[in-house]
Amino acid sequence: MDLGLDGRVALVGASSRGLGRAVARELAAEGADLVINARGEEKLAETAGELREHTDARVLAVSADLSDDEGASRVVDRALEEFGRVDVLVTNAGGPPAGPFEAHSMEDWRAAVDLTLESALHLTRGVLPGMKERGWGRILNITSIAVKQPVDGLVLSNSIRAAVTGMARTLANEVAPHGITVNNVMPGYTRTRRTEDLARQIAEQEGITEDEARGRWEEKIPLGRLAEPREFAALVAFLASERASYITGTSIPVDGGWIRSLL
Ligand code: NAD
Repeated sequence: MDLGLDGRVALVGASSRGLGRAVARELAAEGADLVINARGEEKLAETAGELREHTDARVLAVSADLSDDEGASRVVDRALEEFGRVDVLVTNAGGPPAGPFEAHSMEDWRAAVDLTLESALHLTRGVLPGMKERGWGRILNITSIAVKQPVDGLVLSNSIRAAVTGMARTLANEVAPHGITVNNVMPGYTRTRRTEDLARQIAEQEGITEDEARGRWEEKIPLGRLAEPREFAALVAFLASERASYITGTSIPVDGGWIRSLL
């Protein structure tokens, strides 16, 4: 299937590793030019090098903290300076800290809002005018299965990703007349640093091994294993494509069957 991404410009937030990097790799393999981002320069430069080595993509790497207004704006500004436009935006950032309700201070809540909601808002606000002008755009938010079925011990993620979902669902209607689609992709348990960290934390708290912690997740996944990041990225690339032109306002899981609801 030709996804029609050749020559498109894609900006993927938080993409030096994990889900963001897999998405950047998939879009680059489909012919898009890439703007990638993370806070640390070294790992980001390594990821940019890999993309250039394995694909024909032009790659711009912008190190910036997306939870910071100035950082998020700088990523968009640099993208527009370098490529003149952003056709595909994938909002993503690191996950907020784990822990039950009473473990978090108001400061933790504000930091999580900055990281998870405001980063998506800033990036979206930055690219939207250009997409409207050109009458074409794809906005994809990486959220979580937690939006449909909250995950115990992740109250910050469960709460704030719901806000991103509400924002995206509303925006989808507003920008549909301009040829812009807005969708959310909900990762389930996927093999990345985030799940390594969560497994370590659970293991320490409960006096079990990290393998046992992962085993508990796997027991609840009908496909019986964690996802590989590229399995997630494949759906994002499709939704970013020309071929996904009639899909908007939706949230789609890539979770091996973990969510138990009918719809
Ligand atoms: P990861 O820890 O492997 O990678 C996170 C990436 O974000 C890295 O490139 C890191 O440098 C970057 N980053 C972190 N904070 C940043 C910031 N403030 N500004 C810019 N870049 C920043 O995580 P992942 O598994 O790829 O997860 C990506 C997102 O998806 C997270 O929000 C996570 O909570 C969510 N998620 C992941 C899973 C999973 O199983 N992996 C499941 C559901 C939701």
